[in-house]
Amino acid sequence: MLVRRGFRYRIYPTPEQEARLRCWEGALRALWNLAHEQRRVYLSRGARCPSAFDQINQLTALRADVPWLADVPRNVCAQLLVDLDAAWQRCFARLARRPRWKKKGRDTVAITEPHPKTFRLTETGVVFPKLGEIRAVFHRPIAGIPNRCTIVREVDQWFVSVQCEQDIQEPEPTTRPAVAIDCGVANLLADSDGGLVPNPKHLEAALTRLARAQRVVSRRQKGSCRRERAKRCVAKLHRKIRRQRQHLLHVLSHRYAKSHGVVIVEKLNVAGMVRGGLGRQISGAGWSSFCSMLRYKLEATGGTLVEVPAAYSSQTCPACGTIDAASRHGERFRCVGCGHEAHADVNAAIVLLSRRNGGDAGRGGQGAIRPPMKRQLRVVRRGHSTVQVSGSFKSPGLQSG
Ligand SMILES: [Zn+2]
Repeated sequence: MLVRRGFRYRIYPTPEQEARLRCWEGALRALWNLAHEQRRVYLSRGARCPSAFDQINQLTALRADVPWLADVPRNVCAQLLVDLDAAWQRCFARLARRPRWKKKGRDTVAITEPHPKTFRLTETGVVFPKLGEIRAVFHRPIAGIPNRCTIVREVDQWFVSVQCEQDIQEPEPTTRPAVAIDCGVANLLADSDGGLVPNPKHLEAALTRLARAQRVVSRRQKGSCRRERAKRCVAKLHRKIRRQRQHLLHVLSHRYAKSHGVVIVEKLNVAGMVRGGLGRQISGAGWSSFCSMLRYKLEATGGTLVEVPAAYSSQTCPACGTIDAASRHGERFRCVGCGHEAHADVNAAIVLLSRRNGGDAGRGGQGAIRPPMKRQLRVVRRGHSTVQVSGSFKSPGLQSG
């Protein structure tokens, strides 16, 4: 089984290398915005959008005119245009929003060398085109054959991420049990075994520090050096929070991938919803990165990740199938139909578990009570088709008019 893994290492460019890398970042950002603008102009005229191939073909003439762009390796420029194309394709397929402009200080620019023959890993570092060897700390051994290499900056630290292809032996079919995980309201996660992961305190504390640092920025004069310095402070706090969260998600996904064979999660809404009050804990992006961590970790242990629709999972009774918002009492769940009691978040996870084989506690089940009125206009996505939940309903606006 061929798998792709990324290995990320801290690199320490010399001042000359760093200056050049920063110039490349600026050049690539300009190239992204230029190519993005070209696509927007074509689209606004109703013309066919230029493909990555078209844009890469124009690159030669552009690089001949613009010396600061010519300094960036051609492969790196071409890869950026491929990435932009991929972002647009995701948008056309309604999987993501429109690609954004890249803004200095806000967006990261990846410097990716997509051809395995153009870079090289040595004992002490990475040999990158035009830069020579950049010192790296290989804190863990690399496995597989490197096939692409990306340099990114996080505020003032540089990292290289090496993508490798590895032929691993097929893991044995698993006999470990199944579990469903739901992101909770009061807790970070709840699983169908009754396990609860509380919201981490350190993230809350970090968010307070972040708010304070952001106030400092807003007090300082625009364009001043002191404001820039305060902005770097904010960026570093963001970086810290991101790492704390990533660490936690890695630990949790590893735990589930090791102990369970099948993990069931809710299918994420395409629009990238942020549910309830936990938006700050696990936002849409956090949840999807948790799911992708689970996916590749399960892949290595012979397990699978199953996505099921999440509609009404918090209002459904797993015992009798009744759907009613009145069953929810904050953290408790008490069914209005049969009196079944459970922790609300755990209950939602148990409902997800029951939906695993297409079975759906509640929806269409025997003796199911229809969803409450205010919910009837809600549109539920099932697969690719859009299904209106209920028929006869007059909106309050129509009644008054
Ligand atoms: Zn019930």
